[in-house]
Amino acid sequence: MRFFLRGARAARFTQAAKAAVLVAAMLLAACAAAPARNPLATWVPSPNFGERRAQLIVLHFTDEDSAQNSLKTLRTGNSGGPVSAHYLIGGDGHIYQLVADSMRAWHAGEGSWGTITDVNSASIGIELDNDGHSPFAQAQIGSLLRLLTDLTDRLHIPRTQIVGHEDFAPTRKNDPGPLFPWKQLADAGFGLWPQGPLIDPLPGFDPWMALRLIGYPPDDHAAVVRAFHHHYRGMDGEALDAQDLRILYALTRQLLPVRPASPPPFSSPPSSLQPSSPPR
Ligand SMILES: [Zn+2]
Repeated sequence: MRFFLRGARAARFTQAAKAAVLVAAMLLAACAAAPARNPLATWVPSPNFGERRAQLIVLHFTDEDSAQNSLKTLRTGNSGGPVSAHYLIGGDGHIYQLVADSMRAWHAGEGSWGTITDVNSASIGIELDNDGHSPFAQAQIGSLLRLLTDLTDRLHIPRTQIVGHEDFAPTRKNDPGPLFPWKQLADAGFGLWPQGPLIDPLPGFDPWMALRLIGYPPDDHAAVVRAFHHHYRGMDGEALDAQDLRILYALTRQLLPVRPASPPPFSSPPSSLQPSSPPR
């Protein structure tokens, strides 16, 4: 009997301990979901806020041999530590989401694009299941175009703001590489792509300034040209040629539209052109 009572007490104690652990876990989960509040300030919440929005979309290849292996890596890590991306698109076109659009995934690493120096904080990362030297499947590109349409519409990301990992990290990365169909994306309205006939630039045109204007970082010139060649020429090569200059000139003119000719020096307009009353 005595032994029985001890057993019943032990059972009650075990149940109470389980309940305490459950409550603690629920509290921890609630804390994890609660907004961070600064203990230095009095919390006076306002309802007028929204989720932060990305400004850039970054495309990668996984450099792995299957979507399942890539999913495993993107949910654990690689040799450099924990990694992730917002989306993975399989070769069959299946779209997986791993991180919410409003959260910061770990896909970009060091690098800069234009004035963006923390690319992870400013971007959506999309991984494409590809081994790095095979053509991208059309089903995969079709799904990518649907996803880009959704993201640019829903998150208000400009359609030109789509770059490859190597574009902003040219000394470290080579994805999505020269086989990625940037022209097909451009034909669907995505990315920055030269429009109209390509012409020779005017004398004095500075291609390195043009690359900076597009967004390329001021890194090693050979690495930047290699990334530019992958993106705009679908080829390797570390030295600029005449066609590169024409492409850069076209892109520069698209980013900096030519202004109308300067008006003649100021002189008093004829009385018939002078306003009869002050402009409002
Ligand atoms: Zn990458």
